[in-house]
Amino acid sequence: MLERLGERYGHPTWAGPRLDPVSELVLTILSQNTADTNSFRAFTALRARYASWPQVLAAPTDELVEVIRPGGLAPTKAPRIQAVLAEVHDATHGSWDLSFLGEWPLEQARQWLIDLPGIGRKTAAIVLLFGFGRPALPVDTHVHRVALRLGLLPPKTDLERAHRLLEAALKPEEMYPFHVELIRHGRDTCRAPRPICGLCPLTDLCPYFALASRGKAPMAPVSRGRPGGVDGEPRYHDELIHGWAPPERRA
Ligand code: SF4
Repeated sequence: MLERLGERYGHPTWAGPRLDPVSELVLTILSQNTADTNSFRAFTALRARYASWPQVLAAPTDELVEVIRPGGLAPTKAPRIQAVLAEVHDATHGSWDLSFLGEWPLEQARQWLIDLPGIGRKTAAIVLLFGFGRPALPVDTHVHRVALRLGLLPPKTDLERAHRLLEAALKPEEMYPFHVELIRHGRDTCRAPRPICGLCPLTDLCPYFALASRGKAPMAPVSRGRPGGVDGEPRYHDELIHGWAPPERRA
C-alpha cells in the first residue's frame, strides 16, 4: 500500500524540521479543529504581531484572541498557547530550546508533550514527527478513515487506540510516508463520506471496496474533472502542512 500510494503522492520523505519546535507546537495548537488554511493565517498573524515568544506570553489574552481569530476557536486557543508557552519557558529556563525532545527516549518525549495543557497524543506526534523526524504517528481524521476502510484497523477502533495499533504495525521509517500518504489519499480519493474508488490504486487490497462494489457501502463516481492534488500541484492546505517552510527557508 505504501509503495503504491508513494508512487501517486511522490514518495514523501521527512527532509528536516519545517519550523523550530516551539513554532511547531504553537502551529499545531492553532490547527486543532480548524482547516489548515485558517490555522496558517492565524500563525502568520501571530508571528507578524509578536517578535518573540516572551511577547506572546506577556500579551493580554484578549489581544492574543483577536490576533489569532482567523484560526477559529481563538478564545480557547489563546489561553492554551500562553499556558503551553509558560510551561516551555519554565522547563527550558527561558531558553525556548526543546531539542531534548529529539534526544530523550521516544515515550518520555511524548509524555512530556502530552503533559502540556491541551496537548493530546495526535498533537504530540505531530511535533515529534515533523519537528524531529521521530517515529511517532499522528492519526487525524483522514488517516483514521482510510486505515479503517483498508482494514488496517478493526472496525470502530477509536482514535486513541488507532494511534497505538498503527504505530506498532509500522516500521520507524514508514511513519512519515504513511501519515502523509494517507492524508493526501483521504483528501483526494478516499474522501468522506464517499470514496472515489475508481481513482484508487488499492482496490484489490481494500475490504471497503469489496463491499462497495457489491452495493453494500457508498462510493462516489469518477467525475470528469480530476480531484485536486492527485498528481498535479499540491493543494494549498497540503502545501501548508506537508511542505510549508518559513519564508527564509524557501528557495
Ligand atoms: S478502494 Fe476506495 S475505500 Fe478503499 S482505499 Fe481506495 S478509495 Fe478508499
